[in-house]
Amino acid sequence: MYLTADYHTHTNYGHGAGRIKDNIRQAIQFDLDELAITEHGPASHSLTRLGVKDSLQLLEIKEEIAEYNRYFDGLNLLAGVEANVINLEGRLDVPEVILNELDIVLAGLHLWIKPDSWQAGRRIIFDNTIGYRLGLIPRGKVRQNNTQALVNAVKRYDIDIITHPGYQLDINTYRLATVCRREDTCLEINNSHQQLSADFIDTAASTGVEFAVNSDAHTAGGVGRVDSALELINEAELDLDQVINVT
Ligand SMILES: [Zn+2]
Ligand SMILES: [Zn+2]
Repeated sequence: MYLTADYHTHTNYGHGAGRIKDNIRQAIQFDLDELAITEHGPASHSLTRLGVKDSLQLLEIKEEIAEYNRYFDGLNLLAGVEANVINLEGRLDVPEVILNELDIVLAGLHLWIKPDSWQAGRRIIFDNTIGYRLGLIPRGKVRQNNTQALVNAVKRYDIDIITHPGYQLDINTYRLATVCRREDTCLEINNSHQQLSADFIDTAASTGVEFAVNSDAHTAGGVGRVDSALELINEAELDLDQVINVT
């Protein structure tokens, strides 16, 4: 089993450590066919400085990637984003005109973001951390809200991959996977956030959804490293026909 592409990597444009060319060097060592650079969207910037400072910076990254693409024959570089879902209606923190310019769109539900309203902040940040612990909202309702936010995003935008589904935020896997299958969106098996279980993969796979295995590397040395994710695939006996970047 080996990886043909890494569709989720960070650089020093966000909170990663390496430069784009460092990630490229590592991808070449791993003999990958494709590498995507996918910084967090701007809603990860104001609170935690994890993402690009504004959406236009994604186009700067795209320009830099276009330069490198001229030099590297065997490796196709993709300009992308890991956009944030910023309300329960599934809105992303990157305008659609910019998403349309990118080669690949990843989206995830993250806790530490700037939500688009007080109400969205309550549902995404407060309910998932303090709200249910204090008994202010039942856990099942929080799971339902998280799932709805992701489902709405998948329906609303042309998203290629949902990153680390269920990481830090409880979701209904079957429901999300069903919609992803219908909308042609992959679910990620993320090597950095190893919260997934074989059960998760079983449940999602039963819908026929496709998976992408990614490093979510934040250093160049992490690019292409997906050993734990591959072990999980083995354990779950996932059919490799359902994985877009492993052969
Ligand atoms: Zn993420
Ligand atoms: Zn990431």
